[in-house]
Amino acid sequence: MELQERLNEVRLRIAAGEREAGRPAGSVELVAVSKTFEADAIRPAIDAGQRVFGENRVQESQGKWPELKAEQPDIELHLIGPLQSNKAADAVALFDVIETVDREKIARALAEEMKRQGKTPRLYVEVNTGLEPQKAGIAPEEVPAFVAHCREELGLSIDGLMCIPPAEENPGPHFALLAKLARKCGVEKLSMGMSGDYETAIAFGATSVRVGSAIFGVR
Ligand SMILES: *Cc1c(COP(=O)(O)O)cnc(C)c1O
Repeated sequence: MELQERLNEVRLRIAAGEREAGRPAGSVELVAVSKTFEADAIRPAIDAGQRVFGENRVQESQGKWPELKAEQPDIELHLIGPLQSNKAADAVALFDVIETVDREKIARALAEEMKRQGKTPRLYVEVNTGLEPQKAGIAPEEVPAFVAHCREELGLSIDGLMCIPPAEENPGPHFALLAKLARKCGVEKLSMGMSGDYETAIAFGATSVRVGSAIFGVR
């Protein structure tokens, strides 16, 4: 299958998921995860009308997205991978949404950079719903206090939450937990669901799904 067919298939399944969940058409945004793929492999998705993309490394993104954004200025780029504080300036300069605010030090570095550059990428807090030691993210029970800290002490507007459920577990309960935390914190955006489970995530209220291999093929 060609990339455009795979992209169409994902779009159709998202639309079907919205209908099945009784949610409005177009309420779930597709973030096409293009990590590891070069500009030439990404262009067919842009040509097919895809405008929202996700990348997990700042440096890799700097090598392809300035060029692609120059060709197509209405691209929206999401950072979905871990962020080091020494890369905060580059991330603020390049990304429109940073989904991986996962500790106080990063929140503080982003706040300083946003002020310095006069740029305001939208921010999501990453939640470690499975409390996995090797995974980044705020522990679920600490999320309300962390979001409040970001808003009140650092002056950041937190728009969303994101999670990556443990690979071996049924993702449903993790998605339900993220949705519950979002309600509790007054946060509107829910970034959850990948190639293997985005339809489940839509049923649990995802407002965006991050789909890579189902569009671009195996990495
Ligand atoms: C790679 C990645 C994805 C996409 O994964 P696929 O299984 O290829 O759809 C989604 N979210 C994050 C955080 C990722 O790193």
